Amino acid sequence: MTDPTSASSTGPAGDFIRDLIRRDNEQGTFGGRVQTRFPPEPNGYLHIGHAKAICVDFGIAADFDGVCNLRLDDTNPDTEESEFGQAIAADIEWLGYTPPQPTRHASDYFEQLYVWAEHLVQEGLAYVDDQDPDAISAGRGGYGREGVESPHRNRPIEENLDLLRRMRAGEFADGSMVLRAKIDMNHENMQMRDPVMYRIRRGHHFRTGDEWVIYPTYDWAHGQSDAIEGVTHSLCTLEFDSHRPLYDWYLDHLPLPGDQPRQTEFARLELTHTVTSKRRLAQLVADGVVDGWDDPRMPTLRGLRRRGYPPKAIRDFCSYIGLTRTNSRHSIELLESFVRRELNVSSQRRMAVLRPLKLVLTNWPKDEAGEPVVEWFETVNNPENPDDGTRLVPFTGELWIERDDFALDPPPKFFRLSPGKEVRLRSAYFVTATDVVTDDAGEVVEVHATYDPASKGGNSPDGRKVKSTMHWVSARHAVPARVALYDRLFSAQVPGERTGDAFDDLNPNSVEILEAQAEPALAETEPGQVVQFERLGYFAHDPREPMLFHRTVGLRDEWANIQKRQAKG
Ligand code: ATP
Ligand code: MG
Repeated sequence: MTDPTSASSTGPAGDFIRDLIRRDNEQGTFGGRVQTRFPPEPNGYLHIGHAKAICVDFGIAADFDGVCNLRLDDTNPDTEESEFGQAIAADIEWLGYTPPQPTRHASDYFEQLYVWAEHLVQEGLAYVDDQDPDAISAGRGGYGREGVESPHRNRPIEENLDLLRRMRAGEFADGSMVLRAKIDMNHENMQMRDPVMYRIRRGHHFRTGDEWVIYPTYDWAHGQSDAIEGVTHSLCTLEFDSHRPLYDWYLDHLPLPGDQPRQTEFARLELTHTVTSKRRLAQLVADGVVDGWDDPRMPTLRGLRRRGYPPKAIRDFCSYIGLTRTNSRHSIELLESFVRRELNVSSQRRMAVLRPLKLVLTNWPKDEAGEPVVEWFETVNNPENPDDGTRLVPFTGELWIERDDFALDPPPKFFRLSPGKEVRLRSAYFVTATDVVTDDAGEVVEVHATYDPASKGGNSPDGRKVKSTMHWVSARHAVPARVALYDRLFSAQVPGERTGDAFDDLNPNSVEILEAQAEPALAETEPGQVVQFERLGYFAHDPREPMLFHRTVGLRDEWANIQKRQAKG
């Protein structure tokens, strides 16, 4: 079995897009220049799917000493905000890429687009259609059904020009007419059946204000913006495959300032148990299913960041899954294995008890003042990185241990603490349970035990073996921490597969908050820092709320288990 996260496996060697660019460069296409762009619409926050596109767009530009612009596709005044634009730029930086300044906007090109629209009108290649939207849509026909030409399709050029100018001047009501490209109403590709270029919409645009009442469609804006910026390779996801003939058609018919860019499509990233649609993510926020766009259960870059995902783990994952032209859904466990691999190296270890149960050592000594002795154990912060140094962890006669590390009636193969059994308290002592205190309901509220002074440091005094090593926290020194444990936000592997609605697969118990007790050093953790709680997983300190920790991932590599199961068939 190959470990996808090991340094020696860097994913598929090369990919079809890099191969294509290499060929372009050999043949001198675009003069050896490589320019890409990442074109999000500023109507929400970036998610893990966008991360793949960012790694592709910025990563390929970097590999070929090229340029990748961040271009906000701000062609819809109703849904877009500058707040989203700023967040997008910040998230790209966090992921590890620095777009050139300033951020480009499709709205920077509204005037040029308009000039080109008049050009197409003058060439007899665009016309104003004042049918209502339903009639336009019906006239398109469908697959195997011919389209019907609009009665306005053969308007004289001068009349089209006059109407277009008056559309721009605001003389007509919203939705009362559109500008359409005059291509082919019987084209086998629906995109080519006289697509709409401009619609009238009086919305306040966050950058151009009320300057425009006509707004370009995605298809009319995109390729032209690419050409204006000097993009050579316009990389996008497969759903734009059918738009490519239209992308080319517009560019073929315009007097471009330079090279004609070329569109190439690759597969979207989909993950199990995850939705990657901004609309659906926005709905999770609006419905209050999650606490916001940066809720640690969200697949947004903000959510993953708050959850403790290192950006490098996301980049390595994207590089490993590589580029293909077939849509597929990757296991979230694979992404998590990259996160775990990275955090294992970068995060310091701490001890915390999530569901505390009191353990009292009945033979623990007292000092001259009659107080229980305190011992400080020097403990390595990170066995993977000696530079992280050591810390002192206090140990006394009253400790917190994990509630489920003790069983009054242990089931078979329960190797942790139970009456008469001996275990190791990590780096401290061997202890043997002797007695319990129960409440009125019979619940164990306190465990009594004796410790073996000869086992100091957790070392076996006489070759005696114990089957379990447990974490613990000194009760007197403990600091309280709130700990959030997460389960999948969607319980189904493919949300929505059953009923067609992903929200039917929402997991009602995707978060559990616990009042934990932790060793004192946890209080010194920086906001945003990720530490490993011994035996429990990796936990990220919330950036805003002190002593709130989010479980990033557990310790067990579930991806390895999935692979074993798959190998067995
Ligand atoms: P959504 O469906 O979430 O609204 P979108 O495609 O409308 O996504 P845009 O802001 O238009 O979002 O996307 C910007 C870029 O990111 C596009 O080039 C798009 O192809 C790419 N992208 C979006 N989602 C994914 C994904 N799941 N995998 C790979 N690339 C993606
Ligand atoms: Mg989009």
